Amino acid sequence: MTKFRTPELGKMSWTEVTEAAEENPVVLVPIGAIEQHGPHLPIHEDSIVADWVAHRIADELDVLVAPPLNYGHSPTFRGYPGNLSLSAETLRTAIYEIIATLVDSGFRRIVLVNNNGGNVGPASSAAVDARRDLGVLIGHVYPWSLGYSLMRDVYDDASKVYGHGAEPEHSAMLAIFPDQVQSDRVTTGGMRELNGWQPASYTEAHIPGQPITGTVFWDFSEVSASGVTGDVHAANPEIGKVWIDRVVGFCVAFVREYDKNTRDTSSARAS
Ligand SMILES: [Zn+2]
Repeated sequence: MTKFRTPELGKMSWTEVTEAAEENPVVLVPIGAIEQHGPHLPIHEDSIVADWVAHRIADELDVLVAPPLNYGHSPTFRGYPGNLSLSAETLRTAIYEIIATLVDSGFRRIVLVNNNGGNVGPASSAAVDARRDLGVLIGHVYPWSLGYSLMRDVYDDASKVYGHGAEPEHSAMLAIFPDQVQSDRVTTGGMRELNGWQPASYTEAHIPGQPITGTVFWDFSEVSASGVTGDVHAANPEIGKVWIDRVVGFCVAFVREYDKNTRDTSSARAS
């Protein structure tokens, strides 16, 4: 449903972009990463899911989808081949310049659909600088992270099944891109002890006698042989459909709220 011939900015001619910008639409910018997600999932997973979610938002709302930025910042996965990663500075600059040139093209309302944890810092930095320098308010949704927040009640013990290459992303991939999941390569995840440390994740270690973990920064491959954390056997496409309903549902609600609150004040700063 759209007042535009297509929601895809990349399919428009420059004259069509001019006309579209005059409508002051919200523009979604998908941002992904090329990094490992275990032996059973493709390295471009974050990117294809970011773009897919952006298109589902565009199915529901009158928004445009910019061509995706498929490369992200994934330094922690450098121990696994296929890690095609930009530096934090390069990604921050790329996101800032995409925002700035969208503004040059006449757009004032931009939401980043970012699907990688390593991208959050660079995206945040670009967004606050865009607020200061260009006067635009940048929205941000992170589908994988939303899944962690919205899916806890679906599992008996979310803490056992949640993880990189595990839940809920594994189920989501079975529902969205089943032909890209190699189920015969599924490997049990888990963290391995390292030099006396008991890792809880690649940045968290159990501290004896303490109820919370402490933070250190390993390369992911130091503490995970397969690249997977969390139990991979909980995955099924029915859970993936719940992920779609809840995560896309939140993203649509967020962009609807962003649209309502920026429609008349998109260039105004809070006073
Ligand atoms: Zn990822």
